[in-house]
Amino acid sequence: MATVKIEKLEKLYGAVRALRGVDLDVAEGEFVVLVGPSGCGKSTLLRMIAGLEDISGGTIAIDGEVVNGMRPRDRNVAMVFQDYALYPHMTVEKNIGFALSARKVPESEIAGRVEVAAKMLGIEGLLKRYPRQLSGGQRQRVAIGRAIVRDARLFLFDEPLSNLDAQLRDEMRAEIKRLHQELGRTMIYVTHDQIEAMTLADRIILLRDGEIEQQGAPLELFDKPATRFVAGFIGSPKMNFVPVAGSAAGLELNDGHRLALPASRRIAPGRAAALGLRPQYIGLASGRAAPGHARIKAPVELVQPTGSRAHVSFRLGGVSVLAEVNAHEAGRPGDIQTFDLDMTRAVLIDEASGKVI
Ligand code: ADP
Repeated sequence: MATVKIEKLEKLYGAVRALRGVDLDVAEGEFVVLVGPSGCGKSTLLRMIAGLEDISGGTIAIDGEVVNGMRPRDRNVAMVFQDYALYPHMTVEKNIGFALSARKVPESEIAGRVEVAAKMLGIEGLLKRYPRQLSGGQRQRVAIGRAIVRDARLFLFDEPLSNLDAQLRDEMRAEIKRLHQELGRTMIYVTHDQIEAMTLADRIILLRDGEIEQQGAPLELFDKPATRFVAGFIGSPKMNFVPVAGSAAGLELNDGHRLALPASRRIAPGRAAALGLRPQYIGLASGRAAPGHARIKAPVELVQPTGSRAHVSFRLGGVSVLAEVNAHEAGRPGDIQTFDLDMTRAVLIDEASGKVI
């Protein structure tokens, strides 16, 4: 197992500053997910830990040892790539065992270790096949098997599920989570998919333009985003943002509606802000409103069923917002519904700085 300590890490690609002073500590056995929009520096950071990119400034230490100048193969880390990177002319067995053969591990031991890894991944029946005879999911399993068999101290995953279809992706995601529980190894995982980040991570590191915007447990980022960027990036469907201004008892919306806020949450009268409210925290009213909840009557604009739940849009403060409700009660476009807003879950974001107030 391994700890990773990254300090003031910089990466320049010519004039492009891909990483801007990143500090990051990864604990032994932790599952850390680097997430963020395309181009924010996730892969660069991962590749630098693997030793596949030069370091322009700062340090990376694994198990307390600075590895800046260490060759990739001496770092004892295993990396799983998005495009699998399998050898097409080798069988599954040879692919999985390749790193061991290269290190002159005896054949009998290789066979045993390959078998254990293949069993763990449910691909023991495929060992004599070639990569071209496998589905995408099976190929990715082989790529993961190659990492397992090496018994590396640190596992790095670079968007390993991006090339799989949705159903397979869910399956493999669960598989990777199970592997982490079984192996207990330190894992660092890159994805642009916030759902993948939410379901896999012990801790999410959200990157933006080469810097860490916020890090924390998945639910912490979900419920306590520090900025509008985090609030909008984490969560599905996306958080609703409604322009508001402070008023004496709460908030005033552009359409004249007023929403009450507890005294402790109020902002200065007239101050411009965005009200952030997740679709999960807007429901259909029934019975009496709970303390801290607000009610709004509005016509339904659009209904998008997803199964037992439906996404219902309506207008609030001049913008279209989404509520996630019971599909059987969603109604139809044009119906007047009373929506219940859980204002205790709302975040208020300063218009000028984008920071949560
Ligand atoms: P992500 O993985 O988050 O999509 P990357 O780490 O691939 O982001 O890229 C971060 C930034 O560095 C981007 O602006 C990208 O264009 C740039 N970049 C990445 N690799 C190279 C490279 N080999 N040469 C020049 N610029 C690069």
